[in-house]
Amino acid sequence: MEDQERVRREIERLRQEIRRHDYLYYVLAQPEISDYEYDMLMKRLEALERQYPELITPDSPTQRVAGEPTKEFPVVRHRKPMLSLSNTYNEEEVRDFDRRVRSLLAPGEPYEYVCELKIDGVAMSLVYENGLLVRGATRGDGEQGDDVTNNIKTIRAIPLSIQSDRPYLLNIEVRGEVFFYRDALERLNEERLANGEPPFANPRNAAAGSLKLQDPREVARRPLRMFCYYLDPLVEPHPIQTQYECLQLLEKLQFPVNPHYTLCHTIDEVIEFWKEWQAKKDTLPYDIDGVVVKVNRLEQQHRLGTTAKSPRWAIAFKFPTEQAVTRLMDIQWQVGRTGTVTPVAILRPVRLSGTTVSRATLHNVDEIRRLDVRIGDFVVLEKGGEIIPKIVRVVKEKRSPDLVPYEPPQTCPACGSPLIRYEGEVALICENVGCPAQVARRIEHFASRRAMDIEGLGEKVVQLLLNHNLIRDYGDLYYLNAGDIAILERMGEKSADNLLQAIEASKQRPLDKVIFALGIRYVGEGAARLLAEHFRSLDEVMQASVDTIARIPGIGWKTAKSVYDFFRREENRKVIEKLRRAGITFEIQETKPETVDQRFYQKTFVFTGTLNRFSRDEASRMVEARGGHVSHSVSRKTDYLVVGTEPGSKLQKARKLGVNIVTEEEFYRMLKQ
Ligand code: NAD
Repeated sequence: MEDQERVRREIERLRQEIRRHDYLYYVLAQPEISDYEYDMLMKRLEALERQYPELITPDSPTQRVAGEPTKEFPVVRHRKPMLSLSNTYNEEEVRDFDRRVRSLLAPGEPYEYVCELKIDGVAMSLVYENGLLVRGATRGDGEQGDDVTNNIKTIRAIPLSIQSDRPYLLNIEVRGEVFFYRDALERLNEERLANGEPPFANPRNAAAGSLKLQDPREVARRPLRMFCYYLDPLVEPHPIQTQYECLQLLEKLQFPVNPHYTLCHTIDEVIEFWKEWQAKKDTLPYDIDGVVVKVNRLEQQHRLGTTAKSPRWAIAFKFPTEQAVTRLMDIQWQVGRTGTVTPVAILRPVRLSGTTVSRATLHNVDEIRRLDVRIGDFVVLEKGGEIIPKIVRVVKEKRSPDLVPYEPPQTCPACGSPLIRYEGEVALICENVGCPAQVARRIEHFASRRAMDIEGLGEKVVQLLLNHNLIRDYGDLYYLNAGDIAILERMGEKSADNLLQAIEASKQRPLDKVIFALGIRYVGEGAARLLAEHFRSLDEVMQASVDTIARIPGIGWKTAKSVYDFFRREENRKVIEKLRRAGITFEIQETKPETVDQRFYQKTFVFTGTLNRFSRDEASRMVEARGGHVSHSVSRKTDYLVVGTEPGSKLQKARKLGVNIVTEEEFYRMLKQ
């Protein structure tokens, strides 16, 4: 009896812990523990519930697919539940799975498996009707998910329409995994760090976070990818018999399908495939966390059925997470472009997943406190799914008694100003814009392609200019002269000239680029565009109250406060005065008659086909900036049709109506003249 009570308590504790991690993982996309540790908690709970079935409750995490719709999007009910997969990390359990499959089928009945790579992303359902994509939805709790159609339409690889001469393939549900390439995620994380936002722990969180963005334009900037692995015609009967055929049909319909799938006739072949990919997983440009093993015949899948949580005909055969133990030598604090100061663990070098690791992220002060990590401690490192190795825990048994709790710094390691921590935030911040650690990166950001786009002003040149005391902030760039620059080593007269020209040209950048370039905490390109469109002048932005800014749809309170604070600081206002005097764009310019370009002014442009030099958005903006209009369809009022590759029916119509037809190259030349 006492025993039973003890077990009950342990079960309750495990459930609570798992629920907490589900919330951190699915809702906040900020997991605290690794997937391996999570799966071990779940396995412990499953084992206890197997032993004491009377203690199973319907709300136990073992009984349902975790996750939930966010309610920020319309909620949609899936046609068929989107289940999770039972998982294992070892060969023996895969053999158990195979034995179970065999025992559930008829004696001696043949069966085979399809093995696919398990992509580390989030599941997505796409519904096509009459060949057209009508809906994209996240998994949510398996029964209901978020309708994120507009967001997924920005993923280039997903066909918006499909063509087939077989009618049953025009009305289908396709499922697959949305994810990031590793390098794309690294870039996204760098940008986030620079903007003072926490980096994503793995591609899956990044994909989940991106699909939840409210502005599809922001989603479009994130290079999401998808691999499809499920095809189900909406109307039955249909002649498809196996998962293998599904994958081949998906390829034929031009869906992105991961090419590394294979048919296995025995469980030994499955284990071979798993071993092979465990050894070569790092050669792929994206992360996989295992192999998914599926019974091939759909009819057998149907007979095997599902539990509440996962199909009985499939299993995720995961790769063990590699861990290493080493010693924490020091904690260094890095100062980001907008002043976020983040801790980096300096480690005694150790081999992990094929590389030597000597640094790991510690995220923030709270993480240090949570781990209670002290300098001199032995720590467990992990690299499963995560790009940057992470400290998962301290080996407390090995701790020497003289180690003292770690105290985070009070002042900026680069300039000595006091560090600030805003209420409700975890980051430590240095607010001195003149901080030498930030100046270089602020100027690089200012000059970067997405901001003021000053060609030739990269990291090296910025450093040279700073070292020679030619500039102290980005405002000084506009006061450089040929004499100043010519003295720089490594720069001949010619590149100096080019640089000055590039700086001069940047004075014409539109207001939203200028606002983005200032490097205000939390103001990325999207927020900068909203501010520019709303206020139409930098002076208006500078004078606005927090309330006024926060009322703009799409701008939160945190961003509004940060914008307001930025312009209250004397040092910042001084730099902005330099920009003003230099003649930078401070207003959205209405086209002035004396400067109008007659070929664009009040002319209507239509685009067809794929443009190679720019996106349609960019092309449209350039037309509009010159006083022209962009329309979506060709009519008698159209002045120019710009034709990219694979033009659509607009071309014929334009020919019929005698509209001016120009190629992308001709259009480009018109813009440049
Ligand atoms: P899962 O990720 O283990 O497996 C199911 C998912 O695999 C599918 O929904 C699909 O999205 C994906 N998948 C990738 N490639 C596939 C393919 N070829 N065929 C079919 N599916 C494919 O299960 P889950 O329910 O999505 O998530 C549960 C897992 O999430 C846990 O096992 C754990 O590892 C992790 N988790 C971690 C924490 C944490 O705190 N670290 C918390 C909750 C969950």
